[in-house]
Amino acid sequence: MRLLTTPGDFKLLTPKNELKRQLLNIEKAGRTSYQSFRGKITLETAKKFIEMLIKRGHFSVLEHSLMTVRFINISRGMTHELVRHRLASFTQESTRYVDYAKRGDANVNLDKFQVSVVCPFHKDPDEKIKLEDGTELSFREMAATIERFYRGLRKAGWVAQDARQILPIGLRSEIVVSANFREWRHIFYLRTSQYAHWEIRSVMVKLLEYVKPILSPIFDDFTLAGTDSNGYKYYSCKYCE
Ligand SMILES: Cc1cc2nc3c(=O)[nH]c(=O)nc-3n(C[C@H](O)[C@H](O)[C@H](O)COP(=O)(O)OP(=O)(O)OC[C@H]3O[C@@H](n4cnc5c(N)ncnc54)[C@H](O)[C@@H]3O)c2cc1C
Repeated sequence: MRLLTTPGDFKLLTPKNELKRQLLNIEKAGRTSYQSFRGKITLETAKKFIEMLIKRGHFSVLEHSLMTVRFINISRGMTHELVRHRLASFTQESTRYVDYAKRGDANVNLDKFQVSVVCPFHKDPDEKIKLEDGTELSFREMAATIERFYRGLRKAGWVAQDARQILPIGLRSEIVVSANFREWRHIFYLRTSQYAHWEIRSVMVKLLEYVKPILSPIFDDFTLAGTDSNGYKYYSCKYCE
C-alpha cells in the first residue's frame, strides 16, 4: 500500500502558446458584436478587450476557447467532485478495467501489487486511532487492511470490477478535464474558495497559480483571500457570478 501525503499534481495538455493564441481568438470573436475590425489584434489589445468583457459580464465570449488538464495522484473523491462540472469533458481512469494488480507490470502479481491512497495532508498517517473494540490502528494501517481485503478478493478469483467495491474513496486516480475558459473560471471560483474540500482546493489553487500568468486577462480578478487553519490557501473572485 502506498500513501500519498502531498497534494496531487497536474499537467497542462494544451500548450502555453496555444492558450495565449486563444486570447486573440476571443477578441476576434468579440469584435463581431460591434463589427469593429480596425487595428491589429495583439496580446495587449486582447488583454484590454477581455478585461472589459469580464467587467461587463459578457462571459459568453470567453467560451471561444479550450484548456485541457491531466490531474494525477488525486483521489477518487476529488475526481467525483470534478465530474459534477457539467460543461466540462472528462476521461477518467477506470476502476473496472484498471487492474491494480498489474500496475507497471504486464502480468498480474497478486503478492506484489500496491493500492495507492491519498491521505489528508494535514493529518499524521501514523497517529493511532482507538476503535470500538479497543484496537489501535493508524490511517496507514487501515489503508493497508483495505489493500489486504482487495488482495484477498482477487486471490479468491474476483475480477477487478467486482473487487473494486471494497476500495476507499481516497483511492489514487487520474482524470483529464477539458473546458472553455468561462467554465474554468467557474470551476476555480467554486473549487479554490474557502468552502471547497481541502484536496480539490489545494490542487486547484496550484493550477490557478500556474495558469494565471499565462492567461492573466482571464484570471486576473482571482486573488488570494487567505489561508485556513490547516494551512490551505483559498481565493476569491471579483467578477464571478
Ligand atoms: C463547497 C461545495 C460543496 C458541495 N456540496 C455538495 C453536496 O453536498 N451535495 C451535492 O450533490 N453536490 C455538492 N456540491 C456540488 C455542487 O452542487 C455542484 O454540482 C457543482 O459545484 C457544480 O457546480 P455548477 O452546477 O454550478 O456548475 P457546472 O455543472 O460546472 O455548470 C456551470 C454553470 O452552467 C450552468 N448550468 C449547467 N448545467 C445547467 C442546467 N442543467 N440548467 C441550467 N444551468 C446549467 C449553471 O449556471 C452552472 O453554474 C458542492 C460543491 C461545492 C463547491
